[in-house]
This record gives sequence, structure tokens and C-alpha cells, in this order.
Amino acid sequence: MSDRTAFRTCPLCEAGCGLEIGLKTESDGRETVTRIRGDQLDVFSHGFICPKGSTLKHLHEDPDWLRQPHVKVDGSFVPVSWDEAFETIAQAIRPILDAHGRDAAAVYLGNPNAHSLAPMFYNRTLIKAMGTRNRFSASTVDQRPKEVSAAMMFGSVAVPVPDLDRTDYLLMLGANPLASNGSLCTAPDFPGRLRRIQERGGTIVVVDPRRSETAEVADRHLAIRPATDAHFLAAIANTLLEDGTAAPGPLTAVTSGLDELGELLAPFTPESVAASTGLTAEEIRDVAGELIAAPTAAVYGRIGTTCQDFGTVSSWLVDVVNLLTGNLDRVGGAMFPTGAAGQPSTKGEPGRGRGFRMGRVASRVSGAPECFGEFPVSVLPEEIETPGQGQVRILVTVAGNPANSNPNSNRMNAALESLDFMVCVDPYINETTRHADVILPPPSPLQKPHYDLALLNFAVRNVANYSPPVLPLETTQLGEGRILLRLAAVFNGAPASGPEAESAADLLDEQAAQGLAGAAVSDRFGNVAERSPSELMEAAGDRRGAERMLDITLRTGPYGDGFISGAEGISLATLERHPHGVDLGPLEEHRLPGILRTPSATIELLNDMLRSELARLSGSLADAPPQMVLIGRRHIRSNNSWMHNIGVLTKGRNRCTLQIHPDDAERLGIADGAPARVTSRVGELVVDTECTDVVRPGVVSIPHGFGQNAPGVRLRVAAEYRGVNTNVLTDERDVDPISGNVALNGVAVTVTPATP
Ligand code: SF4
Repeated sequence: MSDRTAFRTCPLCEAGCGLEIGLKTESDGRETVTRIRGDQLDVFSHGFICPKGSTLKHLHEDPDWLRQPHVKVDGSFVPVSWDEAFETIAQAIRPILDAHGRDAAAVYLGNPNAHSLAPMFYNRTLIKAMGTRNRFSASTVDQRPKEVSAAMMFGSVAVPVPDLDRTDYLLMLGANPLASNGSLCTAPDFPGRLRRIQERGGTIVVVDPRRSETAEVADRHLAIRPATDAHFLAAIANTLLEDGTAAPGPLTAVTSGLDELGELLAPFTPESVAASTGLTAEEIRDVAGELIAAPTAAVYGRIGTTCQDFGTVSSWLVDVVNLLTGNLDRVGGAMFPTGAAGQPSTKGEPGRGRGFRMGRVASRVSGAPECFGEFPVSVLPEEIETPGQGQVRILVTVAGNPANSNPNSNRMNAALESLDFMVCVDPYINETTRHADVILPPPSPLQKPHYDLALLNFAVRNVANYSPPVLPLETTQLGEGRILLRLAAVFNGAPASGPEAESAADLLDEQAAQGLAGAAVSDRFGNVAERSPSELMEAAGDRRGAERMLDITLRTGPYGDGFISGAEGISLATLERHPHGVDLGPLEEHRLPGILRTPSATIELLNDMLRSELARLSGSLADAPPQMVLIGRRHIRSNNSWMHNIGVLTKGRNRCTLQIHPDDAERLGIADGAPARVTSRVGELVVDTECTDVVRPGVVSIPHGFGQNAPGVRLRVAAEYRGVNTNVLTDERDVDPISGNVALNGVAVTVTPATP
């Protein structure tokens, strides 16, 4: 029996499902969660949840979730007060920064930051206070190529998403939303949305080296060779241009570079890419013909197209094909969401901006170019290992697990262990935080306010949904925003403990809000807010912290009352009155050219980096593929490296297996279920095999995020799991040259039998 019901958006993945949470008051006055199920009234998810959604209770009650700071003393973590933790940090970092400068500290932001409100605002306060150019994030083992290709074409990270609810034809590459629930495409109940495409007579085609769960339900599966998506897409684009069926329609007038495209793509005929892709020319021509013939169609590429060595050019080609088939920015095609916390379009005229620039600085050791203010994670170990001015000696991680999630884990672990000092904002003692000197644990998801600030900008429907915290903080806990502000204050040299430390954090919060309000109303893209910065601050009333920042952001967003004079625009108060969310309608077409931020005010199709990549791509047509390559995979009960401590999700058969085609297994003398040794340039591991024809011959697959049994890790359930860390095999040298994103798919490996 529940005494009360709360509603909250699930923060565990990009789908953002609405949850209905039952709560009971215990005899000591504390509330506990009785059950979690899908919120039937949620305007976006309509009751859908996956098996992970109901485990927020388990996460909240996980005994391994730290509830107060921990400091390492003589090799063991001991709980301390927040003041003691910040004092420890201050005393350790100040002499290092004084002696070696600000670049001696680096910061690494993990993927869960994108799902958490306070870090979305206060990580930038922390980074500013650190004053370092050594900034890293999980984006370069994930989606960075898509951000880069979108920014090159449109001038900002405006990523088109497939209009799932209205399309007639969906071509998906390297995406398995039946396991992941979608990524760079926020769509609760992705499986239901796919089913409805077929129910209305539409077609789904999946291109993937593995017959994934999504491929199983598709109308067609093309088992492409790993990391050859760019060949496949270039051949489709070239076919459309060659046979004269390419039809960008009204966007022709606002696109530059179309004339040159045909010449650059000429080497990629269906016949010329057949050997590299492992597909027939006929299969490729069929897809090109179907895309152009379908009333509406959308191409969508995800992790298989980004985490490979042609990541940026593959991501770019996804939208080139959307453009050439006339499906970019139209209903049923690839469309631009209008997030309530996003940027308004320029009214009327084509948008113009400074466009995308990268490479403003280069990393110290190997000269990797900066991109979106960061260096690729592939160079983090060398920046720690290599002596000299600017050597990284201090690392701050926020919700990140680079020891497990980044390539060449053995090297990364050794680098982390060699640091002078490490601070982790993280709830667990995991593969990464075991190396830390201080761990600052945030509260559980049920204790945090939530708004999907980033992910609703990739939603297949325009919605806005805010969730207040469901449960209060315990006396030993500190809010996530407050942790980041106090850490920032320490880097600023402010007192680390006592009332002065609190005042320093308050001041940073005030400055952050004023800065946000000032920036929001001085929009350089032609939008003039109806409210001044001081009016926005006043409108936020007594709110402080992330909620005040959110209120300002919403008021100055596309639906906000900062821009809609006289109308009731969206503010945080509006969302508080709508616990199931606010439906802002289906995606709008014709957002181009208003959302462009390129200097030419056109879709800039080409630049020298892409020309050079197309030349490299053309050269690769003749490359002989490695005999055996490794790809990743995902399971619906898993979420990168941080949900494996939940017993209800990990129970059952071992899912961390090496999937290998039966023909390969027989050739190599490996029996089904027997252990195999997998070796790459950088490492080797032994893993249980699973002989299955879901992978094509020449391809093996291991899921990522497992292998959490390293010494010192305190994840009692995950440590018992029979898994391996696939990033022992992935190679920090194998990166997409434009974005710096690591090629986690298509890794050359050898596989041999191993003795148990
Ligand atoms: S799909 Fe699952 S994990 Fe993702 S938001 Fe929905 S319930 Fe949460």
C-alpha cells in the first residue's frame, strides 16, 4: 500500500519515460518506495517503461551507493564530513597548481551528466574555476562525430532526428533501439513506434553487422561489414546523383556545395563498395530506389556509425542522403526538434552565425585538435604519463568511468594510478574511483530534480517535463549542484570549509544565474527577449541552484515567456503544474533555414576536412579487411558500466559473451560455451563464447561496461558477474581523424581457444 504517488522522468537512458512512484511512510517518518511503474498519463511515454525503469528503487537503496564523502587514508577509503573532504582537496591541489599551473589539472565528464540537471549547469562553473585546457568527456567514445557533422552542416549541434511517428520508411544503421531504447533520438517506447511504422504499411531496414534485436523485427536486415557504413551511404548518395533522382527540393536554394558533391562521391558506385561492405550492388541500389520512392523516409545512424574510424563522414552522409532524398526538415523525414530549453529559430530570415570551428588549440603531447572545447579521451593517458610543463597531475571526474569506458583500459588504469591527486564526483567505488583520493557522492536519482535539458533537443515530439525530487536528502548528503559549486570554489582558492565556503558557493551560483540570464537575452541570432536579465532573475523568485537556472532557460527558450510577450509561455512553474509533462506537439517542418548558424547562412555541405576524408574513404575501398574484427553490443538490462550492481537486472545467464559465427568457431576450433582468448594490438582477455549466426562471419561481438571485479572495486553484485572489460582490447590509436572519437567498432583482433 502506498501513502502517496509521485511522478518522475526516468533518467537512466535517453528515452525519458514517465514513472509513477508509490511511496509509503515508515514508522520512523521516513518514506520508502513501494513500487515503480510506467506513468500512463505521461504525455510522451504513455505508460511505457523498460526493465531498468523500476530499478530506481534498487539504485536508491543500493548499499554500495556512497552516502557521504570518502577520503583515501593509507590505501583505504574512510567516510568523512563534506568540510573534511573539501579541505583535503584544497590542501592537496593548491601546491600542485601553484607549482605547475592550471593545466596540471584535467577534468573528465561521463555520460550520466547528460541525464542530470545540476551538472548540465554547474559543470561549466567547475571547468571555468579549474581554468584548464585539459578537458575530456565520454562524448569522444560516443556521439561526437554526429555533433561535428551537424555543426559543420548547420553551424550548431542541431541534429535531425527521424520523424518516427510519421515516416513511411526508416533506414537505421548501427543502431539497436530495441536494446538501447534509442540514442540521439529521444523516443520512449521506441519498439512501439517501430511497430506502428509497419502497421501503417511502412518499411524498416536495419544495416548492422549483427542481426540485432531491432534487425529481427525489421522488414530487412543487411549484414554489412563493420565500419563500412560510409561506403554504403556514399554509394546510395552517388546512385541518387548519378541517376538524376536526387531531389533536395526547396533546400537546394539554401545549400552550398551541392555542385561539387557528385564529383567527390563518384568513386562510390554500388559495385565499387560491394566488396568492402559485404553487400551486393543490387541490395544497395534497392535501398537507394526505395528511399527515393517512399512518400517519406528517414535515415538514422547511431553508435555503429559514430564509434568507428570514418565516424564523422558516416554521420555526415546520413544527413546528405536525407537531404538528397528531399527528406531533411520535412514531415516523415529527418526533422529538427524544438526543445523548450533549446534555442529559438531566427524569425523569418535564414539564420547566420559564426559556424563551427575546431582545432583552436592542440593537445600537448600528440597535437590532437580541440573540438567543442575538449580533447579526445584517447589522449588522456599520454597527457598524464608524459613529463613536462602542462603534464596532467590532478584529475577530476564527474559521473565518469574512464577506466572501463575508454580504450586501452590497461594503459588508462596505469595512468590513473600514477596521478598525484584524483577527485571523483561519483556514487560508487568503481574501476575508476578506486584510484581516487577523494570521492564526493551525489544523491540518488530519486533525490534529484530532473529535466532532460540536453535530450529533449533530440526528441521525436516536442515535450517538456520537469520532476521535483521524490525523496529528501539524508543528513550526510549534499545536493549535486552544491557539490560542484563547492568544488569550483575550492579551485578558485576560496575557503574549503565552514560558512565562508558556503558563501563562496552561493556567490558562484549567483554569478552563474546572472551570466545565464545575461547571455539568454542578448541572443546574437536576431531574437530579442521581452524580459531583461534582472526581470528574469526576479521572475525566478526564491528559487536557487539548478531550478533557478532551469527557470531562466525555459523562459528564454522557444516557448518561454521571455520571448512571447503577453502569452503564458513555459516557465518552471508551468511544468510544476503539469506533473505528466506538457505536450508541445509534433515536430515542425521548415525549421531550416531559420535554425542555421553557419557564416554563409546556408547548409554548408562541404569543407576541406570532409574533402580530405572522402579521399581517404575512397582510398580505403581497396583495403583488405582484417580477418576478424570486434564490435560492441547492448542489452536492455544493461546501461554502460553503471547499472551492473542491480541484482534484478544482472540475474540469469551470462550476457557478457563473445558472439562468434559457427563457421568461424569451427575454423578456429572453439566450442560453443568454451572460453576463447581475444587479442588486439593493446591487450587480451579470455571470455566465454556463444556460437551464433546473429553475427556475420569475420565479426565477433562483446558488450561493453562489464569486467568490474578489479581490486579495490566495491560493487558487490557487479564484481560477481562473469564479465570482461572489452576496452582492454580497444585501441586509443584508432580514432576518427576529424572528431577524435575512438573506433570502438571494427577493432582488428585474433581469436584462439583458451584453456578454462
Ligand atoms: S527506456 Fe527504460 S531506462 Fe530508458 S527511460 Fe524508459 S524506463 Fe528508463
